[in-house]
This record gives sequence, C-alpha cells and structure tokens, in this order.
Amino acid sequence: MQRTLIENKNLTDLTWFHSGGSAKVFFQPAHMADLGDYLRDLPERTPVEVLGSGSNTCFSRDRFDGVLVYLGARFGGFEALSERTVRVGAGALTGDVVRKAMKLGLDLTFLGAVPGTIGGAIASNASFSGRRLCERILRATVVLRDGRIQTLKRDVFERPDRRAAALRNAVIVQAVLDLPQQVPEKLNAAWADVKHQHEEMFPAAPLCTGHVFSQKNENADEAGRKSPKEQAAQILSRLGEIRLPGTGLCLDRSFPNIIFSNESSDGSRLAEFAQLIANRCRQEFAEDLECNLNIVGDLR
Ligand SMILES: Cc1cc2nc3c(=O)[nH]c(=O)nc-3n(C[C@H](O)[C@H](O)[C@H](O)COP(=O)(O)OP(=O)(O)OC[C@H]3O[C@@H](n4cnc5c(N)ncnc54)[C@H](O)[C@@H]3O)c2cc1C
Repeated sequence: MQRTLIENKNLTDLTWFHSGGSAKVFFQPAHMADLGDYLRDLPERTPVEVLGSGSNTCFSRDRFDGVLVYLGARFGGFEALSERTVRVGAGALTGDVVRKAMKLGLDLTFLGAVPGTIGGAIASNASFSGRRLCERILRATVVLRDGRIQTLKRDVFERPDRRAAALRNAVIVQAVLDLPQQVPEKLNAAWADVKHQHEEMFPAAPLCTGHVFSQKNENADEAGRKSPKEQAAQILSRLGEIRLPGTGLCLDRSFPNIIFSNESSDGSRLAEFAQLIANRCRQEFAEDLECNLNIVGDLR
C-alpha cells in the first residue's frame, strides 16, 4: 500500500458540517512507520492536524496551511488479544467496533451510538450513559510530531490533565481496550437501550449540525455517573429554543445538546452561536459549558 498525499484538498465532504475549507496537504499514511517517517521529516514549524470522521470538527473557509493527517479504514483493524482485551485501530468506526466486540461477548455498547472513529473518541474521551472510553483503555500507541512511536499506559488515561498533555501533538494509531464480558441477551438489551437514549438526546437524521457541549469540570460527574455531555444536555434544556437570526442555526428544545442547521454551516457563525449559548448558561444558571467542536483555522 502507498501513502496518499494530495495538495490543496477540499475538505467539504470530510466533515459532518460541510463547513468548507481546504488543506495545503492531505496525508493518509500507508501504515504506522510511514506516518512516523513522514512526521519526522516535516519541518518543525509545519502545523499538523488529525481528522477522524469529522463528526466534531469544523474547518475555516480559508486554506489550512499545514498537513492534515487522515487515517481512515487503513487503520481500522480489530483483533481479539485475550478473553477480555481487544486491539482496535484508530481509524475504525465506533459502531463497527462495538458490533465486533459484541460478537466476542464484550461490552462496549455505551459507545455504540456515538458517531466517529476510535481515534476521535479517544481524543475527546467520548462518553455516553455515564461511561467513558478512556476508562477502558489499557494502552494506546501514538506517533508523536517528531516521528517517535510511543505507548501510553492506562494511568495516562485516568487523569484528564495527563491525557491532554500526552495526546497534544500526537496521532493515536491504535488502542488496547479492556472490556467487561456479558451474555448476548444482556448485550443486545444494553445496545438497544443506548440507541434509544442517544436518539432522545441527539437527532438520528443526517442534518447539518454542530457543537456538542459538555459540562466543563470533567471530574465532577464521578459521583453522579452522568457523562459531561448528559449534564450539559440537562442544563441546556432549561434554556429552551434559541435561534441565531439570519442563519439556519438553532438550539432545539427536543435535542438540547446539539446546534441544528438544515443547511451547510458556516464555521464562524457556529462558533459565535456556541459562545452565545455558553454565555447564557453562565449568566442564567452559573454553569460553565465547553463547546467541544474542534475548530481548525481562523474563523473570524
Ligand atoms: C449527532 C451527534 C451525536 C454525538 N453524540 C455524542 C455522544 O453521545 N458522546 C460523545 O462523547 N460525543 C458525541 N458526539 C461528538 C463526536 O461524535 C465525538 O466527539 C466523536 O468521538 C468524534 O469522532 P470523530 O472521528 O468524528 O472525530 P473528529 O471530529 O474527526 O475529531 C475530533 C477530535 O479528535 C481528534 N482526533 C481524531 N482522530 C484522532 C487520532 N487518530 N489521533 C489524535 N487525535 C485525533 C481531532 O484532531 C479532533 O481534535 C456527537 C456528535 C454528533 C454530531
């Protein structure tokens, strides 16, 4: 397999929000060593961004003047290592990984309705139903900006500050997950329950949407076992419906934790609207929400 290198790649179809933009260089490595070699040989000042499936990323309409690393299906492997552990590629889609784990009698069902890739889910510590992916990581392999390959152990993922520091400028390539075993009937019931709960919180229809919010203090939910996104949904439901005049953007009472738009969204308006919503939550309820959308480039 050869690496893929494309100059001035249009990014419209690579994110859910079709926010437009382009990348000076789009790079899909052939394999992990190829990724390491490429990053090592890049001038130090060249900015590098990673894209999973783009369900939480928005590019500015200008050109991103750096290298966009895209792993895709080439990095989508899945392998059972022992009774309870599996190795998954960072380019694998979360829904596929959940289904494959279920076939082995392993429970990752909470992640089943979260759109995106394993890499994106690890980077954002994807959570649902009070459970988070980083709690299940035994180790992960990353390629650093200087091309070195590193293994990050479980303890790195237990602390948000350590995790954030370790993943800064790193491309996650694969992870080993330790998953609880479960009988098929319970797995099927849990999976159906997660899908149902997720559909109540997020629209299943392929709308042009953006900005999922989280409650800011990541550690605060340990006691209540609600994920930061579920906590944010509860807070946002108290705001009711809000629209950003002159755009199709709105926060809907039925799905409070996601900004809606029926049209393709302009990244800077999305960012503006998300800020307005976060400010209102701070003023009206003294609650700090984080807008989770990864915004690449200058949106102003
Ligand atoms: C309708 C809808 C529902 C959602 N529901 C949930 C939910 O229930 N729970 C939840 O947690 N989130 C939810 N999200 C948010 C989003 O789906 C998650 O954050 C998801 O994990 C992002 O995965 P992705 O592959 O699309 O990442 P992208 O959007 O492509 O990237 C997100 C971030 O991860 C980084 N990244 C991606 N791949 C790698 C890699 N290999 N190495 C290093 N960094 C990487 C990117 O640089 C970026 O910073 C939802 C989003 C939508 C649109």
